[in-house]
This record gives sequence, structure tokens and C-alpha cells, in this order.
Amino acid sequence: MESALTARDRVGVQDFVLLENYTSEAAFVENLRRRFKENLIYTYIGSVLVSMNPYKELEIYSRQHMDRYRGVSFFEISPHIYAVSDNAYRSMRTERRDQCILISGESGAGKTEASKKVLQYYAVTCPASEQVQTVKDRLLQSNPVLEAFGNAKTLRNDNSSRFGKYMDVQFDFRGAPVGGHILNYLLEKSRVVHQNHGERNFHIFYQLIEGGEEDLLRRLGLERNPQLYQYLVKGNCPKVSSINDRNEWKVVRKALSIIGFCEEEVEELLNIIASVLHLGNVHFEEEDSGSAAVTTETQIKYLARLLAVDGTLLKEALTHKKITAKGEELMSPLNLEQAASARDALSKAVYGRTFTWLVNKINASLVYPTSRSASVIGLLDIYGFEVFQHNSFEQFCINYCNEKLQQLFIELTLKSEQEEYESEGIAWEPVPFFNNKIICDLVEEKFRGIISILDEECLRPGDASDITFLEKLEDTVGGHPHFVTHKLADGKVRKVLGRDEFRLLHYAGEVNYSVNGFLDKNNDLLFRNLKEVMCQSENNIVTQCFDRDELTDKKRPETTATQFKNSLAKLMEILMSKEPSYIRCIKPNDAKQPGRFDEMLIRHQVKYLGLMENLRVRRAGFAYRRRYEVFLQRYKPLCPETWPNWDGRLADGVSTLVKHLGYKPDEFKLGRSKIFIRFPKTLFATEDALEVK
Ligand code: ADP
Ligand code: MG
Repeated sequence: MESALTARDRVGVQDFVLLENYTSEAAFVENLRRRFKENLIYTYIGSVLVSMNPYKELEIYSRQHMDRYRGVSFFEISPHIYAVSDNAYRSMRTERRDQCILISGESGAGKTEASKKVLQYYAVTCPASEQVQTVKDRLLQSNPVLEAFGNAKTLRNDNSSRFGKYMDVQFDFRGAPVGGHILNYLLEKSRVVHQNHGERNFHIFYQLIEGGEEDLLRRLGLERNPQLYQYLVKGNCPKVSSINDRNEWKVVRKALSIIGFCEEEVEELLNIIASVLHLGNVHFEEEDSGSAAVTTETQIKYLARLLAVDGTLLKEALTHKKITAKGEELMSPLNLEQAASARDALSKAVYGRTFTWLVNKINASLVYPTSRSASVIGLLDIYGFEVFQHNSFEQFCINYCNEKLQQLFIELTLKSEQEEYESEGIAWEPVPFFNNKIICDLVEEKFRGIISILDEECLRPGDASDITFLEKLEDTVGGHPHFVTHKLADGKVRKVLGRDEFRLLHYAGEVNYSVNGFLDKNNDLLFRNLKEVMCQSENNIVTQCFDRDELTDKKRPETTATQFKNSLAKLMEILMSKEPSYIRCIKPNDAKQPGRFDEMLIRHQVKYLGLMENLRVRRAGFAYRRRYEVFLQRYKPLCPETWPNWDGRLADGVSTLVKHLGYKPDEFKLGRSKIFIRFPKTLFATEDALEVK
């Protein structure tokens, strides 16, 4: 059999750690290319799995494949996502330590598919019983539901997740999955009211319109034509060839009932979805006074019924703002633009809160009262670095999240390296690497960090604007080594940056952000009187989404960035307590086609995924390490004293063997149970000798 190591010329190395020139990005990409050509989409960096999206179905996910990876040590067979899944599962079982699998990559790189493969692996291979089956089914069925409400067609991915997701799978003492819990992050709510050309709104709207039964649509007041709805026509893309909305509708309906939604709940949920479409069709005209008036009475009628609210109050709230002047409450009329934005704010709030409600509802269904969870495997499927032509508040949040994940990676990798050295009794050799804590601080530090300054501007009455925010940033963090604006220290202007931009030097590279919209997006305000109307709703889901306490609560609601910062801090805490595995996904081309390896695009991702940095941290000490028995078993034919069998202590056998092979003292170290080899070439020479034999 051709060994994975000797086939390296043809199919590349299966672990980047074994690359001779490990600091060369060109060598890294070349290795990816060789493997991709052979349909080898998986490669390791130590215990990190790099995964290339093949854009075609590969025959590597069968039951046989699952079985092949069960109980096998990581490096014995070719890299696979099942190896990572199995490894995490076994560590959880044997070491009783909670695990997490962190999946990152840009949109369309295959993160969500990867997380589904991991989940399927557990669903198929873990022990089961009848009650466990229910949980398994619900865990699996939560995917189509969340995708219907949280995914959309974008230019990059026909099924792009527009939210970040962390899912805990809980296992009992026998290793059977007995429950789950999902946390969601930053749903892209703006998509509800606006889509770029060639993109769509969330799938559920089209599924409902294309697949909904006649009498259902009649009850909801909807026509079977997405082009009739303002919120669905902006992207001019009602149909997507890879998506069958009508079939998906059936899948989602079935999934909802498996998860345990009753008919009334489904009806109330769909009432809300339909009401968002009706809201989008609410029009205003300008009265002589300049204030806005609703012209679409039919929509208001439907809205009143579907949301179970008072139509007259809703109409008033859409066109007025309640202000308090000299202790008196007054209704101040809105102009056309203000009314349209109040309407859109309501749509976003209703949809966003319903999504959160849905996640909570799924979570409740994943709690199995009679079973006790012994340990957990967490799965994080979250957007990677985003670098577009134009980057805004959303990219700022996403990239901040990636800085935090890199921090975690550094801390956990170094920690586990240190632990391994310690347990093997080998002296720790400190490694040089870039610690990105300085960038995290720049963003999140109290009082002086970018988010603090943004919040401060959001609170400040008067002339606060996106531009005054940028000026504050210049005053406060202008001198920070990772922050740049168009202003140079000597008063001159840096031409490459606009006057409304700042640049952050992220660990993976630089990104320019435009401050336009930062204040509005961070405030995410919904007028009080609209909230009041929603709080009086008799739709059970709406009541749970709009809590009356919100009206009496004098405290200002947390801003979007601060909420995100806090939820990230919680996530980091959750992940810190677990043993991590990493899957880094790469998209081979923008055309969504198989077999195309777009080098520029791939280099860009290698950079922004921080893979070279991953490799550097991992390679800093030893390229290769193996347990004595594995090493001896493989190479014992190369030394007369170890062949055919070594009877003494394993460590002595390995020591005899490498002495015979002529290893120099600085090339290797012998730990308690493993041999550590510093350079790949040492190992390759040994491997070649085996080949000659
Ligand atoms: P992401 O979540 O990173 O945005 P997805 O997981 O949704 O990306 O993948 C985008 C598309 O790429 C999928 O819809 C599927 O067509 C294809 N794809 C991703 N991973 C695989 C895989 N392992 N095998 C086959 N096709 C894949
Ligand atoms: Mg996704």
C-alpha cells in the first residue's frame, strides 16, 4: 500500500506541519492544489482540519466511511471531518472533558455543511434508544427550520446563513445524545426590508408563498406571487435554480411538527411572517402639512388581524412619534421618510424577535426531562473574516468576533502545547507569534475602546453623527498602532482612505470600514408607541417577543455592539471551558463550481483564516509526534536490534532505533510516552528508507 507520507509528491502532504518550507504561503497553496485535484478536500494542520468546498457530492460520507473512522487514531488514515468528530467524541468519553468544534470560513466555504456532517456522524454512530431517537430527530430537524428563517440566497452562497450559531449537543453517561441547546448571534435583520441585486430575503417568505396551501394563503391574505411584495422585489431574484421553495416548504412544515410545534403555534408564527410582508406593502402619502398618512387600508386591516393588534393605533403609531414636552405627552407627526423608516424598523424588530423566539422554542424541545447530561460537544458555525469593497458596521462586528476567536485559539493552543510538553516531561520552549490581544482591546476596552466610544456617541444628544464618532475615534485611539484614518500626524491627508473611513490592522490583514450608518445600526431604535402597540397584541408569540416590562423599564436598552460584545464574552467563557477542535473552511472559487481552483481567492482566504499563523504556532516546537508503540511498530524493520521484535521498554526501543538511524540530538526529543521530531525532513528520510527496504 502506498503510504500517505510517500505519496506526498503526487497528493501533497496530509498535514501541513510536514511541509518542508512551512513559512511559505506558496508552498501551502500548492499543497492545497495537489490535494484538491485528487478530490482530497481535507488536510490537517496538526489537529486543525482544513476543508475545501468541493462543490460536488463526494462518495466519502457513507455509513462505511463513518465506521472506518470510529476509534481510529487521528493520523492513521487520511484526514476527514469524521476523524475530527470521532476524536472529539472519544476525548469526551475517555477524558470526561467537554469538547467544542469551531468551524470558520467565509460565506460559501462549507461551514454549515460541515456542521451538519458532524451532527450526522453523531446521529448515526452514537448509541441510541427510543427517547434518544426523539432528541436526535429534533436536533437534526432544527436545521431546516433555522435555515428557512435564518438563511437566504446571497451572491456568494445560495443558502447563506445570515446568523451565527453555537449548538451544544449533550450526551449522557453512555455516550448517547440526550439534548441540545442553541445560541444565535447577530441575525442580519436589515435583509427583511432590503436586499441587494441578485439576492433574496429569508427563504421562509418564498417557501410560504410558493408552497403554502390555498386556504392558508387566503387566511393570511397573501397571493401566490412574490413579485407583489415590496420586501421581496428589491433583489429582483424571486427564483433560484438550486432551490425548490415548494418542496422546502413541506420539509419545514414537517420539521416544525417533529420539533413539537402544535397547529396553533404554526398558525401564529405564519401570521407574523405574513404580517411582515403586509407591512412592507404599507404605503404613505404626503399630506399638505408635510406629514405622512397611510394610504393602504387593506394592509392595515390584515395587519390588525394577523398581529392581533388595534388597527387604528397601529396606523397612528406608524405615522407619529410620541414625545414628552413639559411633562405632557404629544403625538408628533412623521414625514414620509421617517414613517417609512419607522415601518421598516417595526418589520425588522418583529422578524428579529420572532427568530429569537423560534430558537428558544427549539431549545425547549431539546430538553429531555428524564435524562441527565454528562458531557457536551459544542459546535460553532460562525462567519469568518469579511473583507468587501465596502465594509460597514456588520463587518466590523464579524471581524471583531474573529479576533476574539483567534485569541481563544492562541490561548488554547499554547495551553495544550504547554500541557503536552509538561506531561511528557519535555522542557517548554517559548515560541514567537503575534498576540492579537492588542486588537481585541482596541475594540472592546472599557471607556477607550471603539465600542465604548460608539456607545457614547449614540447616547449623546445634539449633534452626534457618524462623522463626530469618527472624530472621537481619532482623538481617543488615533495613536494606536492598529488604527488608521486619512489624517496623518503632520496634518496631511492619507489618500487611500476616505474621510468617512477608518482602517483596522487585523491579525489577518487590514480592513477599511466606512462609518456611515454606525450610529443608527448600533442604536437599532424602535419608536416607543410602536412598541406599545405590539405589547398589546393578542398573538401569543408577539406577546412573548414584546414584553411589557420594556415599556416601564427606564434603563436604555443595550446597543447592538454592546449586546454582541457581551454575548461574545459569554461564548468565550463557554468555549474556554472546553477542549477545542478546529475546522477551517475554504471556498475554491466564486462560481460555485467543482474542479476550479482560483489561486487568488484561495490565497486571500489562507491569509484571512490566519492559517499561516496557525501553522507557525503549531510548528514552533516539533513538527511530528507519535506514541512510542506506533513509531516502533512502523519503523522497527529499519534496525536489526528492533526487528522483528523489541522486548524491552518501548522508550529504549525507540531510542535504539533512532540512534541506529543517525538522528542528531537536536532533531528529536523523547518524552514519557511519545517521540517528538523537530523537522519533517528527518521523518521523510526515515520514511524513504522504509520504502527502499
Ligand atoms: P457556509 O455555511 O460556509 O456559508 P455552506 O455550508 O452553506 O457554506 O456551503 C455552501 C454550498 O457549498 C452548499 O450549499 C453545498 O452546495 C456546497 N458544499 C459545501 N460543503 C460541501 C461538501 N462537503 N460536499 C459537497 N458540497 C458542499
Ligand atoms: Mg452557513
